[in-house]
Amino acid sequence: MNTLLSDLLITARATPRPIDENQIVSAWEFANLAHTSQLRKSGEPFINHPTQVAITLAKWNLDTTTIIAGLLHDTIEDGGATRDDIVKNFGEEVAQIVDGVTNITQIRLTGSREEQFVENLRKMLLVMAKDLRVVIVKMADRIHNLETLAYLTGEKQQENARETLDIYAPLAERLGMGHIKSQMEDLAFPYVYPEEYKSLKQSLQPFLVIGEKYVKNLNKLLTQIVIPDLPSAKIFIRQKHIYSLFKKLQRPEIDGDLSKVHDLFAARVLVDTNAQCYQVLGLIHSQFHPVPYLGVSDFIATPKPNGYQSLHTKVFGPEGRIVELQIRTFAMNTQAEMGVAAHWQYSAVKDSGASDRILESGGVKANFKLDWVRQLMVWQEEIQDNSEYLKTLKFDALQHRLLVFSPKGDVYDLPSGATPVDFAYAVHTDLGPQITGAKVNGKLVSLEYRLNNGDVVEMLVNRKRKLPNSDWLNFVVTTTARRQIAKKIKT
Ligand code: MN
Repeated sequence: MNTLLSDLLITARATPRPIDENQIVSAWEFANLAHTSQLRKSGEPFINHPTQVAITLAKWNLDTTTIIAGLLHDTIEDGGATRDDIVKNFGEEVAQIVDGVTNITQIRLTGSREEQFVENLRKMLLVMAKDLRVVIVKMADRIHNLETLAYLTGEKQQENARETLDIYAPLAERLGMGHIKSQMEDLAFPYVYPEEYKSLKQSLQPFLVIGEKYVKNLNKLLTQIVIPDLPSAKIFIRQKHIYSLFKKLQRPEIDGDLSKVHDLFAARVLVDTNAQCYQVLGLIHSQFHPVPYLGVSDFIATPKPNGYQSLHTKVFGPEGRIVELQIRTFAMNTQAEMGVAAHWQYSAVKDSGASDRILESGGVKANFKLDWVRQLMVWQEEIQDNSEYLKTLKFDALQHRLLVFSPKGDVYDLPSGATPVDFAYAVHTDLGPQITGAKVNGKLVSLEYRLNNGDVVEMLVNRKRKLPNSDWLNFVVTTTARRQIAKKIKT
């Protein structure tokens, strides 16, 4: 057996849920056939790329469907397969994820003409909003492409690395995928800022040498303080990611001075319950004095907007040096590293595989889907506000289109000025005539209400009604609604 394929199976077997090994092997064979005699720029067989992507997905504890989509993600665009082949062999769900990945890969954001940027961003969001797994596969794909970026031309390197820092890393952050965000940033950093990267690496060296000894000592002390009371706690000390260090050094209060960075190494204590988090905080503060004014942040009581939860404290550690500590539960830690993907892992484990369908069809997971789709929206707004060149745009492409949601989190793309009636006809033409009222974001509104970007629209209907109201023609804006209403009224 191919060694990478057996690596994939070993990784997938270690995930906390049942997987379908036969399906994974047959998807690998399908992809291998589709990419016959193709090579990557590195000279490796092409199949190594989708296999590495699938291994990453398995490491992130994703389900068989997502792993298979990872294996097949380039078979249509770069290989010899057709969509029909995929549907026949692996089903519509896999085909849809592959479609989504192909679509967002074709949408180039960095380097696109300014007026196209917002429009492309919107298209990308629409694809991603339909199935979260599209984003996750895309990020696994991006990570492997960054790892093999050395083989591409300088121009391609720049384009990929920049797009990662501009779009994919902030998106991962917005979705709460802290671990994935840092991984992408650290891979892109040397390509976007080669000089800065080299000099930071150099000036960091002496700090790391001293740091190593210090970390050992700190680990020993923390173990002595925490473990007697909480034997199941786990202590980790890690070095700050290099790109986030680079960003921090640019802050005015730090002004490039590495000795002012207190979290070059940060300690993390993981425990089972919320109450134990506060217990650990107490134990640590009784041994190491907290630094005045820098203080304690309680993101357990008040989570960050992306859902991040943890206690943070800065204390005077051994030798009087300031040490930053993060205290959280194991579940909060998975959430902090994997964000929305973590939710996917948990729910799938609990419902033993049935959750994908529940998630897609609304049901109990609707709130979760709606949550992350809304986070996508907020992020889209942020990126538009922050981007200098977008500020200079005279028009805003998004003003002409709206993204609105059903209570289940399904996303609909409507022209600006659209009303709940337009929404109903966009959902299904049979729904239109049955409308009796509408709620937007939980509040009753009139049927001629103008929807806003990000609104959640719920229709109130009477199943017995068969005819639309002719007044509606006075305010609907979509052709579908107009045509359908006119047709029914005539007959
Ligand atoms: Mn790819």
